[in-house]
Amino acid sequence: MKKYKRALVWLRRDLRLDDNTALFEAAKASEEVALVFIFDINILALLDKKTDTRINFIHNSIREINNQLSSLGSAVIVKNADPEIEIPTLAKSLNAEAVFFNEDYEPTTKERDKNVARECFNKNIKTHHFKDHVLFSGDEVLNQAKLPYKVFSPYRKAWLKKISLEDYTEREGEVIYTKKELLSSHLSFPSIKDLGFKSCNYHYDFQKPGSESGKKTLEAFLKRLDNYDLSRDFPRLEGGTSGLSVHLRFGTISLRRCIRACINQKTKGARIWLSELIWRDFYSMILDTHPYVVNSSFNKKYNDIGWAEDEKLLNAWETGMTGYPIVDAGMRQLVNTGWMHNRVRMIVASFFTKDLLLDWRYGEAFFAKHLLDYDLASNNGGWQWSASTGCDAQPYFRIFNPSLQSKRFDDKAEYIKHWLPELKDCSPKEIHSPETSLLSTKTNYPAPIVEHFIQKKKALSLFNNA
Ligand code: FAD
Repeated sequence: MKKYKRALVWLRRDLRLDDNTALFEAAKASEEVALVFIFDINILALLDKKTDTRINFIHNSIREINNQLSSLGSAVIVKNADPEIEIPTLAKSLNAEAVFFNEDYEPTTKERDKNVARECFNKNIKTHHFKDHVLFSGDEVLNQAKLPYKVFSPYRKAWLKKISLEDYTEREGEVIYTKKELLSSHLSFPSIKDLGFKSCNYHYDFQKPGSESGKKTLEAFLKRLDNYDLSRDFPRLEGGTSGLSVHLRFGTISLRRCIRACINQKTKGARIWLSELIWRDFYSMILDTHPYVVNSSFNKKYNDIGWAEDEKLLNAWETGMTGYPIVDAGMRQLVNTGWMHNRVRMIVASFFTKDLLLDWRYGEAFFAKHLLDYDLASNNGGWQWSASTGCDAQPYFRIFNPSLQSKRFDDKAEYIKHWLPELKDCSPKEIHSPETSLLSTKTNYPAPIVEHFIQKKKALSLFNNA
């Protein structure tokens, strides 16, 4: 006999019906299951860009779920509300005896979820939460002293030692969804406009919303997986990486599905791709166990670095007008598409902190505003890695040279010319050495705003003094 007559499953970063732990567990424990997604008014209020693609991505993904449920005679409840009030109230009004959801490890979300659980408890409604977004959560992979790892390599080793088939088996079983008629008083699907946003398009195919798109993106990538080690560092290659970050962010692909696809593959490409997925768990673990990193350097002694305050430099970086082509190409890709290649993310973040000497938190916030795949844990981890303030970060004395990075990873300047058409008639040699080639005298492209070797010295002394 099932424990509950009806359960409410609260969808959040898990926008799919397949291989979804909370949904699977709810279906095991309850005779029927109703689904809800809430556009959290507290989060929407913080978004000042009315064409935010993330709202569109979520909205379209929920619509896909609604269509899938419609063919089963059900529907998803969608609200524009404060979850702390809405979830307990809705559960009560639906006579749901329990609320099931998948865990989220961001500090403010953890706090919110605690409040929701307390309100549910006060109304005599049980709450059950599950790990789904990561393979191993914060306290599952610990070192010998039972403390979280601070270095990636031993973490990865321990992660690989711990993983067993059960960890990545598909969570699947029959689900009986509550009939649409019984939900009808709650079914008014707000439009993008009702939410206060505008519809927008996606630049790349891999950014298309929904779990069908997530699965298609994975299937297409698997044909290229074995070459990942050779292709992943070259931003001009569309498809050199998987493009799955947005799907992993919103759960339109299951992480377990990705793991199943590569864990038993022996090629170098597959092994390195698996490592990238482990980096994702690593940064999620760091955020979960060291929540102070949201506002502070992981390595606290670097909180004292005297970063520059310079609006002009910040503005040049944000608008892709620094005079360093590889940096500007990356920033224009970000602002125009909501995505940036990983190699270029590292280059622009390094340039921001070690050449412009600006506080990584400003750069992090700009990424947070523009990335469709924005994820607090990975973004914070990536920025603190590049700024050398994080755990297992790039050592501060190993500073990326933008010209060498440009030459090495975009040899023919194809990626750069795509994003900086004003340089289309310049040779790769000129493009890779902006400090000497005087690009600004022949084109309307700006001269470099700083000199790399001077800034490098200043960066070293900032870190040495900290
Ligand atoms: P693939 O190369 O195909 O990798 C597969 C998956 O592994 C990715 O989808 C992602 O989920 C994970 N992954 C790969 N590299 C990393 C990494 N370094 N850290 C954590 N997870 C990783 N990733 C985000 O998902 N959201 C962010 O907000 C984000 N901000 C970043 C900021 C900076 C400064 C840097 C240097 C990196 C950031 N990353 C972020 C990590 C990485 O750049 C993206 O995950 C990757 O570019 C996404 O492309 P992909 O899906 O094709 O990746």
